[in-house]
Amino acid sequence: MKMSVLVLPGDGIGTEVTREAVRVLERVATKFGHDLVLTEGLLGGIAIHKTGKPMPEETEELAHEADATLLGAVGLPEFDDAPPQLRPEKGLLGIRKTLGVYANLRPVRSFKSLLDSSPLKNERVDGVDMIIVRELNGGLYYGLPRGVEGEGLEERGTNTMTYTRAEIQRITRMAFGLARNRRKRVTSVDKSNVLETSQLWRKVVNEVAAEYPDVQLDHLLVDNAAMQLILNPKQFDVMLTENMFGDILSDEGSVLSGSIGMLPSASIGAQRPNGAFVGLYEPVHGSAPDIAGQNKANPLGAIGSVAAMLEYSFQLIDEATAVNRAIDAVLDSGHVTADLRPKGAPASTSDVGTAICDAIG
Ligand code: NAD
Repeated sequence: MKMSVLVLPGDGIGTEVTREAVRVLERVATKFGHDLVLTEGLLGGIAIHKTGKPMPEETEELAHEADATLLGAVGLPEFDDAPPQLRPEKGLLGIRKTLGVYANLRPVRSFKSLLDSSPLKNERVDGVDMIIVRELNGGLYYGLPRGVEGEGLEERGTNTMTYTRAEIQRITRMAFGLARNRRKRVTSVDKSNVLETSQLWRKVVNEVAAEYPDVQLDHLLVDNAAMQLILNPKQFDVMLTENMFGDILSDEGSVLSGSIGMLPSASIGAQRPNGAFVGLYEPVHGSAPDIAGQNKANPLGAIGSVAAMLEYSFQLIDEATAVNRAIDAVLDSGHVTADLRPKGAPASTSDVGTAICDAIG
């Protein structure tokens, strides 16, 4: 199979974890006999430095030409006080929007060998296997009007949370479709006791649920969901939620896996005629300026994102399984980065990449 992949390493540890993820992709292509064509583009802080824009037009064009896009992370401290259009994160929102990827899938599972790395008691975490389905194209992060205006005590910041019926329907169908191949349970998270957007959300989710009588639906308010995720995470199978709630809850969920560096994500959009999805794949974590350039970032979230790419954008299930098995094997070996608190000396980012490639064979 010909696989054309755009690589956007981004900033900070994004470049380091992406390098290892690309090595893994190359190893899979060689082992399974696929023709991998890689292109590289600029996004985020590095793009601002080199072109003045967080998402240059060339990056947009390359993303549309590729079958799938692999992203590291964006964000550099020197842009912390920059105006919104000149922030690296603008590039991230831009690439998601231009690709029309509306469903962010964030699997959260516990790994036996990492149970001691979780700050929660082992029995609470052991057996967690859930997926957070986060709406990615709407809500507070994109709604208009937005901005800061006025002066003095009247200076006012505004953001708008808005969702259409169509946006809620498509993400809900995605969640129910996934639940059908899992434990057939969807928990929809909203704040319908306060927000009108959430009241519409709940109404539409209930309507769509009627199309899936084999899947059980329940609703949780987001504040309770945040608590339940810590108190009893095993109760969840598919957690469906809007953009900002999903952003926050999935970082909370990362604690269950032992480190945010473990979590992959797939952002998927339209389905192509061959059944494959348009997709953007990236680890959940950010550019981690505190450890950037030290070859100590955990690359497993980025490598897990490659597995998701093989599954959703190329429908290569055996190849995806090979990558996930390699991750399990490396975790079992204890050859892991410092964030996972190994018993022996921590491995470097590139050591872990090499171990994964070796495990794939
Ligand atoms: P972060 O995820 O970068 O880091 C949070 C903490 O987790 C840090 O202590 C970091 O060292 C650690 N960490 C993160 N990834 C790790 C990994 N792979 N291995 C080991 N440790 C890891 O979040 P932050 O510090 O809030 O944000 C830093 C920058 O990243 C900001 O500019 C932010 O806007 C950006 N950001 C980008 C994305 C993205 O590109 N998708 C997501 C979140 C944050």
